[in-house]
Amino acid sequence: MKTATKIVRAGLPTPEQGSAFLPGPTFASAYHLKGEPSSSPFGYARQSNPTWSAFENALGELETGPSLVFASGMAAVMAVFGTTLRPGDIVVVQADCYYTTRLIASGYFSEIGIQVKLVPAKEIETNLVGAKLVWLETPSNPNLDVCDIARIATLAHAVGALVAVDNTTATALAQQPLSLGADFSVASDTKALCGHSDLVLGHVAVKDAGLLEKLRTWRTQTGSIAGPMEVWLAHRSMATLELRLSHQSGTAMQVAEFLQSHNSVQSVRYPGLVSDPSHALAAKQMRFFSTVISFVLDSKEKADAFFRHSVLFTEATSFGSVHSSAERRARWGGDVVPPGFIRMSVGLEDSQDLIADLTQALGKI
Ligand SMILES: *Cc1c(COP(=O)(O)O)cnc(C)c1O
Repeated sequence: MKTATKIVRAGLPTPEQGSAFLPGPTFASAYHLKGEPSSSPFGYARQSNPTWSAFENALGELETGPSLVFASGMAAVMAVFGTTLRPGDIVVVQADCYYTTRLIASGYFSEIGIQVKLVPAKEIETNLVGAKLVWLETPSNPNLDVCDIARIATLAHAVGALVAVDNTTATALAQQPLSLGADFSVASDTKALCGHSDLVLGHVAVKDAGLLEKLRTWRTQTGSIAGPMEVWLAHRSMATLELRLSHQSGTAMQVAEFLQSHNSVQSVRYPGLVSDPSHALAAKQMRFFSTVISFVLDSKEKADAFFRHSVLFTEATSFGSVHSSAERRARWGGDVVPPGFIRMSVGLEDSQDLIADLTQALGKI
């Protein structure tokens, strides 16, 4: 069955006369539980919830491995680091990965005695020896570099390292790290998977049952659990993921081509562009090139002017939503990007309207 078909019904319960397609969220702190706790799948709500289970079944179908939902993308990142790394271990972290991931690696984890090596994507292959965990992010946010998951997983496993991929930008619909050989597929579902700018959520998928149980214990003991309403909304939103990503990636391609041809734009990164250094690899391991584009204007002032004049590219952080948005990344500090660097997320609006808006806004800078 094609993924576009599978995702519409992923995780839905077996049809029963008179029941809902996607049963509503289960709001509970405790469940009726007589006698032996093991006699019920649901005992206490920090451990389990039927709304989580349905969403996790859906994720499992996409990820090709069992999945656990977490309170946020960072809670999911933290669960992988926390269950894998012990003082004295080495973790190789892709140098241009998500800013907060770098912060917690170089902050908390390095303070407790874990050696954190920040390595540029292209040099990871030659820096694997001694590592306990290799942390990849492809395409990376916000620079959109792509690394070869299958190749790095083979090399890392040969030296005994585990491989985790932050798959947020691509989503499990467009790229399946587990089938490419990674041990963990991690994502912030806040972004494209949910895609409606209305909730914060994350998940981890694994192949190995032992790793799954460690992550489950971590989630139960740290309480990094998601609310049932968010999980239910995520499951509901997921049914349109193929439709959204195929449409939004198509529009993103047109927008990237437009930006590339515009003389006010210094440079553009989008893995879908044939001229992009990431294109060949992205085409090999991704089904869609995602909704995110980055481009550079001459200065902070020009970028600020762009935001004053653009109507449809709402100035906001985050990406992957049905609403187009963009931001000047350097306003946060932390990313190694020029002052006029803009990360843009292409939404579900009409491509002609988006390009008309870009034309007028870039015309006024
Ligand atoms: C947003 C993001 C995260 C963190 O996710 P939250 O849901 O905000 O906690 C992690 N990795 C990447 C690549 C992200 O874009």
